[in-house]
Amino acid sequence: MEGRPLAERIRRDVAAEAAEVGSVALATVLVGDDAASEVYIRLKHRAAEEAGIAAIDHRLPADAAEEDVLDLVAELNDDDAVDGVLVQTPLPAHIDEATVMRAIDPMKDVDGLHPVNAGQLFLGRPTLVGATPLGIMRLLEEHGVGLAGRRAVVVGRSLIVGKPVAMLLLQANATVTVCHSRTADLAAETRAADVLVAATGQAGMIRAEMVKPGAAVVDVGITRTEAGLVGDVDPEVARVAGLLTPVPGGVGPMTIALLLANAVRAARYRRGVLAFPRG
Ligand code: NDP
Repeated sequence: MEGRPLAERIRRDVAAEAAEVGSVALATVLVGDDAASEVYIRLKHRAAEEAGIAAIDHRLPADAAEEDVLDLVAELNDDDAVDGVLVQTPLPAHIDEATVMRAIDPMKDVDGLHPVNAGQLFLGRPTLVGATPLGIMRLLEEHGVGLAGRRAVVVGRSLIVGKPVAMLLLQANATVTVCHSRTADLAAETRAADVLVAATGQAGMIRAEMVKPGAAVVDVGITRTEAGLVGDVDPEVARVAGLLTPVPGGVGPMTIALLLANAVRAARYRRGVLAFPRG
């Protein structure tokens, strides 16, 4: 399941939608100098600009206080020219991520991490949902992977990938199991999966004998090694799986494309083109 061609198509559609909305602006906040985060921010900015979305780059030093981050988020919330606010994670350990995510205006929360957006997803009435889980669902849809009544297993329960993708799979009527580091017999769970989503960051941990023949396997993991980027799924799995996403070139490009789609969605909420539930 190649991500690049589909991501390109989505980015073209997003560019047309952004033009229709008028001006769309996405502000990113990077705290510290994590090398991987720098790369992600650069990719997001380049993609945004290609789609006609203004990308505004905010940087804070690694020793910035939580207050400084909250002040910047408040400023971006108040800035009428900003449609989407993305605070790149991980944040330095002294900053509480939940506090920062809660501070973002829910209508500008393009990562879907504010409790309002996370709650809407839980309620089965999704508003802004994170780009990675959305990208995974689009890839499965594009490849005709049926979900209703089928067994989906998600390995990983993070707020940014595991939990939201489990909710989307459930909403698509899959029978969903969520596994994590304390799961007793992981292989027994994954072998039962018609659709397997691996999002752990443990390179190559999903081995061929853990996969049901013919299963659709989505590899979200990205680990940097001397040989380049590798996923959570051992390459041998290609012999067993019916469909498999490559790393790189699978979920990664989809994440970028759906982030841009989220920026346009946020702009539509803000302009009242789409109704945003207010609690
Ligand atoms: P987190 O570290 O937040 O979560 C990892 C999850 O995997 C946790 O729930 C953890 O369990 C679980 N886990 C770790 N080790 C094992 C194990 N041995 N067996 C079973 N479960 C395990 O990571 P993220 O969700 O943020 O990211 C996961 C990976 O996806 C990373 O490699 C990240 O770089 C990549 N990623 C890729 C994106 C893309 O666009 N392609 C976007 C976002 C992330 P527990 O909760 O018990 O600790």
